[in-house]
Amino acid sequence: MPAEGPGALTGTGVSPGVGHGPVHVLADSVPEPPRGARHDGDAVAERARVHAALEQVAADLTARGRSAFPEARDVLAAQTMMARDPALAEAVDALVDSGTAGARAVYESFGTYRAALVAAGGYLAGRAADLDDVRDRAVAVLSGIDLPGPPDRAGGPYVLVARDLAPADTALLSRDTVAALVTEEGGPTSHTAILARAMGVPAVVACPGATGIAEGVRALVDGTTGVVTLSPSPADIEAARTAGDARNAALAEATGPGTTADGRPVPLLANIGGPADLAAALEHDAEGVGLYRTELLFLDREDAPGEDEQYAAYREVLDAFPGGRVIVRTIDAGADKPLAFLPPPGAEPNPALGERGLRLARTHPRVLETQLAALARAADGAPARLGVMAPMVATREEAEWFAAACRTAGLPETGVMIEIPSAALRAAALAAAVDFVSIGTNDLAQYTFAADRQLGSLGALQDPWQPALLDLVHAAATGAAAGGRPCGVCGEAAGDPALACVLVGLGVTSLSMGAAALPAVRAVLARHTWAQCGQAAEAARAAGSAKEARAAARALLPGLADLAL
Ligand code: PEP
Ligand code: MG
Repeated sequence: MPAEGPGALTGTGVSPGVGHGPVHVLADSVPEPPRGARHDGDAVAERARVHAALEQVAADLTARGRSAFPEARDVLAAQTMMARDPALAEAVDALVDSGTAGARAVYESFGTYRAALVAAGGYLAGRAADLDDVRDRAVAVLSGIDLPGPPDRAGGPYVLVARDLAPADTALLSRDTVAALVTEEGGPTSHTAILARAMGVPAVVACPGATGIAEGVRALVDGTTGVVTLSPSPADIEAARTAGDARNAALAEATGPGTTADGRPVPLLANIGGPADLAAALEHDAEGVGLYRTELLFLDREDAPGEDEQYAAYREVLDAFPGGRVIVRTIDAGADKPLAFLPPPGAEPNPALGERGLRLARTHPRVLETQLAALARAADGAPARLGVMAPMVATREEAEWFAAACRTAGLPETGVMIEIPSAALRAAALAAAVDFVSIGTNDLAQYTFAADRQLGSLGALQDPWQPALLDLVHAAATGAAAGGRPCGVCGEAAGDPALACVLVGLGVTSLSMGAAALPAVRAVLARHTWAQCGQAAEAARAAGSAKEARAAARALLPGLADLAL
């Protein structure tokens, strides 16, 4: 039975704000081409038709990538490569040569490949959904059917509801067309959540029953509380609108460096993937960069990038923040970020637990040397202060090794990321080897809960409000402080305004996030004292679940309600 309302559904709010409009439910996928379907006997013509369809899909994905948010661009580039994969094309050709119709041949060949990905587990299993999306696009072209996609803007902003959203679905959306996003699956680090935050559109994920909402029913989506109200009354909408206007006015007023209400500075920095993200960071008043994910510059490359090319990409970012700070992370390859020129030394059954991050850099020393040399050159005479940090550090020995490598390259300020529970528990020892630490809550949650961050079905375990994760953040910040070292957070958690206050209360000294989240975090922080942040942090740690932790902290942060966040 479709949900017609009035009534409400509840999921996890992952992108703050309130939006309302008529619901559009995105159809799940294109129908499977009939089993045993044959072409008319001309295999050569059928092959040509299939190749043209795959190329059309690849070209369409490339075009979508051009106008997509940086967060979606990399996935679309990977999908384009899937559509042009020669091994897949060969498998399709073989089936067509044996008489199978083109659409069915595509469906079966992609299916074989998909099964191999799922069997490989980890990162590769997480890409199965991206492969399915490419398959559906090709089958739709070959079958002459329209691919289900978000409607265009006619009729004003709508609430887009789906089981989950592929980056290709969201690439062409904008705040003008979409009032809010609601998905039945996905977690706080899913594609949908990251893209919604980048777009500044309210979003709720992991919302059971969402795809059962009847098409056209009006919905009011609260991306903060996770509540989706069906057929809201005019008074509900008016209350949400008033609160939204007040929030926008307050957010516009909050500018300048981050600080608590009692004047304790908390630098607010941007996460970037390259110079293309600078405009948004500057627009939202970032005080610098807290995480430059350098591997994103090189995701689709066959060869290691040269020193000159890297120098240019780093220097452009340093030049953008005169007097500010830029923290560059050395290449974090492996698992969810595989690079062709930095392969693991052997086959790995569990890539997330394999040779990745700093471990991989140590097995390819030339690649790290080149990167550190490019960074040292970029820092020389730059207007911003450069910090260089290593990803996926597990032990003090690794931190010492990295600091020594940076010293050899002439880099004065080094740090390590705390993304593995061992590093959080031993933060004092790791911090003593370097100048600063930065907590990556995305991976720290993955490793604390043994829950693959690529799996939407495990979204609840990826929730950074989990008290066990907060305990580890507290351990890391306390350990770093013991040796007088700053401790930032640069995972998705830093972009949640309430959680940002809790992190500060746990002892975190700076926050780095997707640029779109900066105004709300800045405004909420400015409304609470350092002591209030501490009380909220204590209450969250004392709670028995992520949900209770969030509620307990929010109850002690009254400024959130003023801002309707
Ligand atoms: C993290 O793990 O929290 C992090 C910031 O790094 P990434 O998301 O790039 O793995
Ligand atoms: Mg990480």
